[in-house]
Amino acid sequence: MSDAEHDAEFDNESVSVIEGTLNDVDRALERLRVGSYRQCQVCQSPIATHDLVAAPLLANCGAHPELS
Ligand SMILES: [Zn+2]
Repeated sequence: MSDAEHDAEFDNESVSVIEGTLNDVDRALERLRVGSYRQCQVCQSPIATHDLVAAPLLANCGAHPELS
């Protein structure tokens, strides 16, 4: 694959997905700073540490699978 073909795949849709993920990272870092990182954003229950290690962008506990 040439460089030009590789660049062509970096389309706006891909950039939007990347931006969304990076925004999630920003929000996760902010929650980490203010001390609410382990707190479920829906029910305020603590999220299991092993779940956060496996999925650092997790913002909800396991009780809300429809939101993840
Ligand atoms: Zn919850």
